[in-house]
Amino acid sequence: MFVRLRRGLVGESQRVVHLVPVPNEVPDELEAYCGRTFAPGTIEYVPAFSGMPCMSCIAAARQIHAPALPDGE
Ligand SMILES: [Zn+2]
Repeated sequence: MFVRLRRGLVGESQRVVHLVPVPNEVPDELEAYCGRTFAPGTIEYVPAFSGMPCMSCIAAARQIHAPALPDGE
């Protein structure tokens, strides 16, 4: 799912859209693929991927979810 820090907590340039794995249960805090953690009440959900993405999240999620390449034959 997509989240970003709520307006007013940080400057607009820092409100990038992070990718967060959907938790199985309600966590104390959410952790994005880039390693950034978010305390309750500090983020807003982004219903569709829009805005400036967190490039570290994109890179990390791509490594995790990329299909394995065949061995070459
Ligand atoms: Zn991120």
